[in-house]
Amino acid sequence: MTKQTILVINCGSSSLKFALIDVATKEESLSGLAQRLGASDASITIKFNGEKQTFSLAASYNHQAALAALIEFLQTNSLTQSIVAIGHRVVHGGEMYHQPTLINDEVMAQLKSLSNLAPLHNPANIQGIEAALAAFADLPQVAVFDTAFHQTMPNKAFLYAVPQQLYKEHSIRKYGFHGTSHYFVSREAATMLDKDIEALSLVTVHLGNGCSLAAIEAGQSVDTSMGFTPLAGVTMGTRCGDIDPGVIFHLTTHCGYTVEQVDTMLNKESGLLGLSGISNDCRTLEDQALEQNNPQAKLALDVFSFTIAKSLAAMTVSLSKLDGIIFTGGIGENSDYVREQIVKQLAVLGVAIDPELNAQAIRGKSLNIATAPSPAVLVVPTNEEWVIANQTHQLIQG
Ligand code: AMP
Repeated sequence: MTKQTILVINCGSSSLKFALIDVATKEESLSGLAQRLGASDASITIKFNGEKQTFSLAASYNHQAALAALIEFLQTNSLTQSIVAIGHRVVHGGEMYHQPTLINDEVMAQLKSLSNLAPLHNPANIQGIEAALAAFADLPQVAVFDTAFHQTMPNKAFLYAVPQQLYKEHSIRKYGFHGTSHYFVSREAATMLDKDIEALSLVTVHLGNGCSLAAIEAGQSVDTSMGFTPLAGVTMGTRCGDIDPGVIFHLTTHCGYTVEQVDTMLNKESGLLGLSGISNDCRTLEDQALEQNNPQAKLALDVFSFTIAKSLAAMTVSLSKLDGIIFTGGIGENSDYVREQIVKQLAVLGVAIDPELNAQAIRGKSLNIATAPSPAVLVVPTNEEWVIANQTHQLIQG
């Protein structure tokens, strides 16, 4: 059988992540990242055959240039023939998209109309799609949405207690994000527990630079911590998570801040970074807190763990029982310290972990670290690229 690969593209405002995935073997034959797009020092790094190569994109340094460099590399290494489709990560699908969707002119127009719901994310995703459509005109291209998995939430979970015309006229509601990750790790958990996903009630905890939790009953998302935007929910690397909206009125009305300044502050200067004044990076903060005894780093990690434990307890309200908690994302997969801090605050739910197993669950290991009779506590590496590749392949096959 000829090899069938999917090119997965995940475009940020100044970055373009990509991976070439063989759908039969799940093997990632090539991956990489173009960074600082839009700046004169833009570059692309491609990992292939165990080797990393970095090229400057200095002459023309936009998303198109990054894709052109990638295509040249694919052609030089005879990798283009096996590509059967392109899967794009799209952050916001609004209420319109519950499923991966084949991209055509009508879908492009709808994606553009959704950009006002996610002005920080969707325009970059669209740029990537447009560049890929120009470069790979003959290949089917599929949009896989971060919001789609959460479209099963009941209205009591997704509605805000504001006048209903805001929902009806302006689509103001909770959407939730990181859907491909919550979907993937919940299915992996079912396999690890040797249970049918339909029989399980789970809380998935994605902790990376962005952080979110989801309540998953019988395989469906029934609540999640992020909201109308990815700014809501628990403390994150640079995002504040939930705060009293009154703070925004106070800052803009009485403290001389513009709306743009508050927007930047809450999205880019808050979270672990804002609290610690040191870094948004969990590893750096752990080092500062545990090795250097830095009180600000310790405080930032305390707030972080507390908001996650509290949100986790809140997620259980939507479940019929609690079979398992799943940690994933860069922090969830690697930080035994953060996992321990969170679980310590969940004793009331009967959750307990084995310190030794917890310490072993790092660097891509899947493990159940709970001690009986606690609900399962699983560490599961996420693989959003694989979900995008697989769903893209299923759609074009179907
Ligand atoms: P992600 O956005 O999923 O790539 O996750 C990035 C976050 O994971 C950063 O805050 C990293 O500091 C954190 N991280 C990665 N490895 C470790 C580790 N070994 N211990 C603690 N945090 C880690």
